[in-house]
Amino acid sequence: MQFDLVAEYYGKLDGISSRLEMIDVLTEMFKKVKKDEIRKLIYMTQGVLAPPFEGIEIGIAEKLVSEAIARASGYTKQEVFAAYKKSGDMGAAAEQIMSKGKLRRMSSNKYELGEVFDTLKKIATTSGEGSQDMKIKHMSELLAASNPLEARYITRFAMGTLRLGLGDATILEALSKAETGERKSKPILENAYNLCSDLGEVGEVLLSEGIKGIEHFRVTPFKPIRPALAERLPTAEEILEKMHGRASVESKYDGFRVQVHMNRKTKRVEIFSRRLEKVTPMFPEISKAAIEELDVNSIIFDGEAIAYNDVTGEYYPFQETIQRKRKHGIEEKSLQLPLHVFAFDLMYLDGEDYMKKPYEERRKKLEKILKEDGLIRTSDERIVTKPKELEKYFENAVERGLEGIVAKELNSLYVAGARKFTWIKMKRSYKGELSDTIDLVILGYYLGRGQRAEFKFGGLLAGTYNDKKDVFETITRIGTGFSEKQMSELQSALQKIKTKHRPARVVAVIEPDFWVEPIYVVTVRADEITRSPTHTCGIEKMPDGSEAGYALRFPRLISDGIRQDKAAADATTTLEIKEMFGMQKKIKISDS
Ligand code: ATP
Repeated sequence: MQFDLVAEYYGKLDGISSRLEMIDVLTEMFKKVKKDEIRKLIYMTQGVLAPPFEGIEIGIAEKLVSEAIARASGYTKQEVFAAYKKSGDMGAAAEQIMSKGKLRRMSSNKYELGEVFDTLKKIATTSGEGSQDMKIKHMSELLAASNPLEARYITRFAMGTLRLGLGDATILEALSKAETGERKSKPILENAYNLCSDLGEVGEVLLSEGIKGIEHFRVTPFKPIRPALAERLPTAEEILEKMHGRASVESKYDGFRVQVHMNRKTKRVEIFSRRLEKVTPMFPEISKAAIEELDVNSIIFDGEAIAYNDVTGEYYPFQETIQRKRKHGIEEKSLQLPLHVFAFDLMYLDGEDYMKKPYEERRKKLEKILKEDGLIRTSDERIVTKPKELEKYFENAVERGLEGIVAKELNSLYVAGARKFTWIKMKRSYKGELSDTIDLVILGYYLGRGQRAEFKFGGLLAGTYNDKKDVFETITRIGTGFSEKQMSELQSALQKIKTKHRPARVVAVIEPDFWVEPIYVVTVRADEITRSPTHTCGIEKMPDGSEAGYALRFPRLISDGIRQDKAAADATTTLEIKEMFGMQKKIKISDS
């Protein structure tokens, strides 16, 4: 597929204001691509060079890109920078400058998509002495032979700012339509994606082996599985009823979720975060323990890493565990805050897919593999059949400084990438507050008024993720809970992702001062969920004929600014808000 055609499709996607139109354009584009190019096309469209879990960063510095544009066009760096300053978008600057370039286009040959992708990959991965010059050379050669529209997207991609605003589910739906003409196959594709977290791989198998190939998709070590997630219920009775009278209850550790992959023969260990980023270097002691403590050939398991003092039995909260994320001082931190992994699920063992076995069997196997006093050990667990037992277990966990409990259905399979009632969480709560925190996507922001004007930041417009429709819906403005430092950090992060119009996958009836790309998540606590005509989260017709969505009463920011460990699609979903609203009503009734 020629790259000028890809650039044309990107141009169409850029101007679209609805998700359905996006799917049509993507479908058309996927229909045009050959099976040996689909992987590259999907990565490119996602704005990445490899599946995100590989962590290959593109983001080439502004300075290098402007130098390359200057070289390719015959303009000076100052002229390029002036064009950039005017539009705030290096892609637009490249397009404008290349369209009136002083030099003749270097080649009349058209680029193939694969050539552009491979060169960009070379640029990103060149390192060491003289690498800056090489990067500029490759980039300027690429630009010199491209047309202005191609230059726009090559530049944006190279700087890591392509941001076509597509969700994974939107890409999967378009793939399904391109291959079968219908969206019907989307769940099968989704299932494959949940097992490998690699849209490029799913696309390639689909185009080379068809839907049949996708149906036979298997879990593979070192490809992260999209994590299973928990639903909520407010009472022990309801949890047990949902789990048919018998459940495993476990401590809910407030640490850092880790998915550990290990192969003994190659001595390879990889650790993936909740967001499926490779975090192996952050936890050297987990890798060491996986090799030393687990007497198996190959394994994938799920667990929570938490700083824990074996002598005092004290758990340190998430904020302290996450300090390990700093690249420096990891060794030091590992002595100060010794970690344990509380393993709670087993997905793969010695060539066998365990996700299809019932939880009880997975858990028993995990207990057999892990040592009781190891750095990696199983989570606390008890099988309960009575609400009173479950409550007692919950209270005990809270007394020990834990977040609450997670109940698991003993017969259930491991459901990758989904929030299901096979796992149900119950957290400690305080009177007058919602029992759970809510993770929201930042959709826009307001300018400061009065005293805040000097920070140019007056609060956020935030929303939930509607996973059924793959869109974001507004639920609240957040005006409190920010420190001055957080306000200036938010302001500087958000102004880089400002958009001219409401992004296509954002559904809203109100307008913030500025819209932003829906990519950042913050955590808030609120007193209550209410109904409101101003917000689109869960909007529906009320008995009186009016329309109302859900809103939050007294929302305040409780995360330290933007959450690095959550992507927009990991935010609280609209359906969860609806369920929490229902639970809140029940709690109120039982209070009175
Ligand atoms: P939260 O902010 O409440 O952790 P979440 O959306 O990240 O919410 P949930 O699905 O609500 O995740 O809860 C499951 C999370 O709880 C897991 O991702 C894991 O990190 C953590 N956890 C701690 N202990 C356990 C356990 N024993 N079993 C399952 N998950 C556990």
